[in-house]
Amino acid sequence: AKCLSTEKVVEFEPFMLFERREKAEMLADLRQALGTDQFFPAYQAVISLADESIVGAEALVRWQRTGHGLVRPDQFLPTAEESGMIGELTEYLLDRVLYDVKTWRAAKLIDDTFKVHLNVTSRELHDLRFADAVRTALRHHDLPATVLVLEITENRLMSGDNLHRYTLLALRKMGVEVFIDDFGTGYSSISYLRQLPVAGAKIDKSLVDDIAVDPTQESFLRAISDLIAACELKCIVEGVETIEQSAKLKAMGFTMVQGFHYARPVDTSGFSELLLQGR
Ligand code: C2E
Ligand code: CA
Ligand code: CA
Ligand code: CA
Repeated sequence: AKCLSTEKVVEFEPFMLFERREKAEMLADLRQALGTDQFFPAYQAVISLADESIVGAEALVRWQRTGHGLVRPDQFLPTAEESGMIGELTEYLLDRVLYDVKTWRAAKLIDDTFKVHLNVTSRELHDLRFADAVRTALRHHDLPATVLVLEITENRLMSGDNLHRYTLLALRKMGVEVFIDDFGTGYSSISYLRQLPVAGAKIDKSLVDDIAVDPTQESFLRAISDLIAACELKCIVEGVETIEQSAKLKAMGFTMVQGFHYARPVDTSGFSELLLQGR
């Protein structure tokens, strides 16, 4: 009976049973993972193009799943979101990330201008308690709101959504910046930039991939960057993989970048080392 939907009759296939069992297992494992510290942040450096110094880091979640090894976010975040446990995961990561920042500050590995970026979903912005949870976490670690930047994927943002707006305004008032992630991949970008209280945009990798070889891509990227500048927003270009791309971006006037050309995401001790080396 479970294979019958009101829309259409779904033919039963053995792989469905397999997929469903996999998903149920993952869900059970995800729940357990939160209580047993199987999640951890990997940090990718945000680089200033002027002198190639590290000015911040993006925290990217990793799951050391018992019996499975390291699992990438794309493989478990959708399930974590569907099941409603993403909020708990975000709060867990926020705590870990702020703890790390506090440690790096104390060790003088970073200064007051260093910013740590955390990815959040539209679900968190919909949660009226989220802004308070962020405030509490910052206070708990005795850190100013200015150390934190939250990234939200553009296609999940709805400019007319009052709950999003409520949370975004509360965060802004607090001093936490919000960036629109994967900018340039959605199709409502312009209205978002103008209507939402955000501090910056992260230009998606797909807009950068061919800039060193395709003049059309360069014009497109320039148009996007002019748009961001016209809105007086900050901008980070992500997915920079080659020295050619990096040179081009610098010539075009971009100031902040991220990508494998500079640094891959690494765990806390790996990033501490990176900071120690001064990149
Ligand atoms: P994103 O926020 O757009 O993050 C960038 C992704 O591109 C990361 O993949 C990063 O490892 C990868 N990347 C960075 N530089 C380069 C590069 O030069 N070349 C290439 N090919 N890739 C690069 P990752 O860590 O697998 O994360 C995938 C996505 O999962 C993220 O995309 C983000 O949307 C989501 N995600 C990751 N961590 C979190 C988290 O803690 N919370 C939430 N809600 N989402 C997360
Ligand atoms: Ca991101
Ligand atoms: Ca992105
Ligand atoms: Ca992405």
